[in-house]
Amino acid sequence: MTQPEHPTSAVYSSLNPTPLATRIVDHGAIARNIGRIREITATPILAVVKADGFGHGIIEVATTALRSGAAWLGIATVDEALALRSAGIDAPVLCWLADPWCDLRAAIAQDVTISCANVETLEAVAVLGCTAEVHLELDTGMSRGGAGEENWNSLFTAAVASSSVRVTGLWSHLALATHAEPEATTAQVQSFERGVARARALGLAPGVLHLANSAGALEHPDTWFDLVRCGAALYGIETVVGRGHDLEPAMRVVSRVTQRKRISAGTGVSYNHDWVASADTTLVLVPVGYGDGIPRDLSHGGEVVIDGVRHPVVGAISMDQLIVDVGDAVVTLGDEVVLLGSPAAGEPDPQEWGAVTGTIAHEILTGLGGRMARRHTNQTQGTIP
Ligand SMILES: *Cc1c(COP(=O)(O)O)cnc(C)c1O
Repeated sequence: MTQPEHPTSAVYSSLNPTPLATRIVDHGAIARNIGRIREITATPILAVVKADGFGHGIIEVATTALRSGAAWLGIATVDEALALRSAGIDAPVLCWLADPWCDLRAAIAQDVTISCANVETLEAVAVLGCTAEVHLELDTGMSRGGAGEENWNSLFTAAVASSSVRVTGLWSHLALATHAEPEATTAQVQSFERGVARARALGLAPGVLHLANSAGALEHPDTWFDLVRCGAALYGIETVVGRGHDLEPAMRVVSRVTQRKRISAGTGVSYNHDWVASADTTLVLVPVGYGDGIPRDLSHGGEVVIDGVRHPVVGAISMDQLIVDVGDAVVTLGDEVVLLGSPAAGEPDPQEWGAVTGTIAHEILTGLGGRMARRHTNQTQGTIP
């Protein structure tokens, strides 16, 4: 073996390899965000951990959420539900995208509560012959999932007639709770209450009623009922336009400077040269790109932080790398580059990226990944093994 070139360098050493880019998940922030929701709503919380916990890690987030007082976990698919059970998590789990072709038998055998929005799925559950707990999904104005009002009677009647299906809950989803005007949300609450009354009149006794998402939980007390389903708020996304609730972003994304070069005024940069330096300047290379979920549009207005200073991303973002214009700042190879961090510290957060790239923070967070490493910490209690 050849000797490393600089084995004693304090600045860099291949003897201490570090991932090129890392998502650092702060479980202290998730716990504090759940604390904020509990303070505000005083209502049991269903922690939404779908899509790998919005990119934060489904099992790790589920564990922290339950330790922080969440009563339920919510996910979209049967596979996600089974992943929770395989990890030994035995808390109540609601799965809202099951259809007749999913592995309903496995889900029911693992005590997953299945959401049904139509008679077909209800029948697919019933024919299995084992007792299954079901929450019925009503459409109260979102016009996405859920039984429309014209189908409530047939859905409720089929549920009452089935001996193996136990309807333990009734729920719906809000379309406009992030808006300042509450009228549309109030209309959904009224529709939901009509649905509940109809279900009871037909002989159902749904114990758990739930309607609120994060925005409902934070801003609309009339949507709380028995359970609030929170995703975004757990991860520190402030979804309500113009309102803050002291939530903290739970993910930090860091990389480092791997190359640096001085260029002169007039030099075109990256594919198509769609950015041209207007003055002599220094560019640095950061080894993450759209293959890791960095949106290409970030090169039109996106910024990163190096040594506490914001610098613009310039030139087309590549699959594996992006370029930052640091001007005349002194930047050294190996310097940390903060892509996402704490807005309180002046660092970009997923909402800022969303505003720059024309999307929402949820899409930014669930899109990140690729070759990035992920590390779990707890700012108050040290690293989680
Ligand atoms: C994703 C989802 C949620 C979480 O919504 P947030 O706005 O992220 O809190 C809640 N309920 C259902 C059914 C969902 O699909």
